[in-house]
Amino acid sequence: MSHFALKRAAVQQQIAEACRRAGRDPAGVTLLAASKTQPAAVLREAFAAGQQAFGENYLQEAEAKIAALADLPIEWHFIGHLQSNKTRSVATRFAWVHGIDSLKVARRLSEQRPETLPPLNACLQVNISGEARKAGLDPAAVPALADAVAGLPRLRLRGLMAIPEPAADPVLRREPFRRLRQLLETLQQNHPELDTLSMGMSADLDDAIAEGATVVRIGTALFGPRPPANPMTGEHPRA
Ligand SMILES: *Cc1c(COP(=O)(O)O)cnc(C)c1O
Repeated sequence: MSHFALKRAAVQQQIAEACRRAGRDPAGVTLLAASKTQPAAVLREAFAAGQQAFGENYLQEAEAKIAALADLPIEWHFIGHLQSNKTRSVATRFAWVHGIDSLKVARRLSEQRPETLPPLNACLQVNISGEARKAGLDPAAVPALADAVAGLPRLRLRGLMAIPEPAADPVLRREPFRRLRQLLETLQQNHPELDTLSMGMSADLDDAIAEGATVVRIGTALFGPRPPANPMTGEHPRA
């Protein structure tokens, strides 16, 4: 087994155990490989080990990898922050976008989604811990945007995404995931087709699964530690 295959088997085992404790079917949790900073060759090895869904944060980096791996049927997810002047690349290259937090971005994605592709799967990003500098919607703003996005012809609204503030205390760690689940349940009264809670990373995936995560976005536990982000730009050194 490759190094990646071993790491992936360990993460899948962890997901299975978290599901067992929560009384959930592991088939209901998708493992999304958060592959920012990893070179295309590493993603190719990961694909060979059975990993099909990859999440990328930085468009330029993602475009290069998508081109290099065009021979593989990878499912590409955009999980970074999306500026409204960069929507076309996401609309034409990705299957999912997790970070929608404005109607402007959503409208542009819908307008730019090619007719030859299925609708773009979309999650609204919620600033669930109420952090001042964090991307995402105030929870109170979510229902109105969900109604608007659900009406866009070339987007398929699937659910909610969040990146809670890290917490050492397990009770505090679970709280924001519970609030995101409750918010999704509220939306499901008007939008019963919503089926996605994109929440949980390497450090908190057990808590996220306990609260109903259907997509966990895992980087470090699959690929090892990343080089630190540039403190001025927040960007990681490019692979
Ligand atoms: C990097 C990243 C992840 C993965 O984080 P790890 O802690 O390395 O598992 C998940 N989601 C988003 C949005 C990310 O940027």
